[in-house]
Amino acid sequence: MFSHIAETTTLRNGVQMPWFGLGVYKANEGEEVQLAVRSAIEIGYRSIDTAALYQNEQGVGQAIRDCEIPREQLFITTKVWNTDQGFETTLQAFEESRKKLGLDYIDLYLIHWPVKEKYVETWRALNKLYAEGLVRAIGVSNFQVHHIKDLMQHSEMIPMVNQIELHPRLTQKTLLDYCKEQQIQVEAWSPLMRGNLMANPTLEVIANKYKKSVAQVILRWDLEHQVVTIPKSVNPSRIIENANIFDFQLTHEDIEAIDALNLDQRVGPDPDNFSF
Ligand code: NDP
Repeated sequence: MFSHIAETTTLRNGVQMPWFGLGVYKANEGEEVQLAVRSAIEIGYRSIDTAALYQNEQGVGQAIRDCEIPREQLFITTKVWNTDQGFETTLQAFEESRKKLGLDYIDLYLIHWPVKEKYVETWRALNKLYAEGLVRAIGVSNFQVHHIKDLMQHSEMIPMVNQIELHPRLTQKTLLDYCKEQQIQVEAWSPLMRGNLMANPTLEVIANKYKKSVAQVILRWDLEHQVVTIPKSVNPSRIIENANIFDFQLTHEDIEAIDALNLDQRVGPDPDNFSF
């Protein structure tokens, strides 16, 4: 398992989603994001994670059209932003994202944040898009266990994916266990803690042992936990480096040593206490 970049996990509805992909938060619209996506696809990335918020869906779409990989071999995720949540407004936001990306369908559409009083209606809109075949899978992002339980009280459709902040300083064990139990695929955002872990001594020792970089060890650790991972880079050499994780395996001891770095420390907002 995890011996090739194009390997996939099977979502609860049977759709295949790559374990590994490129994140494009803060990649500038235009040449920067296009170059990143083109470079990534050239070396074998098949999954790209964007969002309406990132304001680079046009560039992502352009790069997809420029590449020679058939559409059905790519996996494109985008997300509905908080101010667009609600039933009708989500349908409109989806249409805008789809147009900007220039795609007939989206592979995965996510509720970006659990906006109270809104996310149930937003989920109803995602269900409609799914029923109409405009999205192959639907899910949530930044949902805690209680948000998922609440959603499931209002809908028979269980999210297929939960994209959450997850890295060695925030291992999310409880949420991860709950999602596994519910067959919700967990996907890590800020897997590299936005570059803040590169000088961590524990990670450096492990990286040296495998002749890998700290980034590569962290990304492999995600896979060993059966977590989909989407590191962001706009730097072609780091895009290559981050993908070079399919030729080694971490031992149980090393996985546990990385797990033990947990401090429940976030680099992003707290899903139970945000105001945007
Ligand atoms: P990451 O943890 O992926 O870190 C990205 C940062 O690390 C960038 O500054 C990048 O710089 C740098 N970097 C990348 N590779 C390496 C490397 N090998 N060595 C050293 N530094 C490196 O953070 P993100 O917050 O971008 O998370 C990844 C993706 O997750 C996002 O792009 C987005 O798609 C998604 N996301 C989703 C959220 C949500 O709410 N659902 C929230 C935040 C992110 P450079 O580009 O210069 O290489």
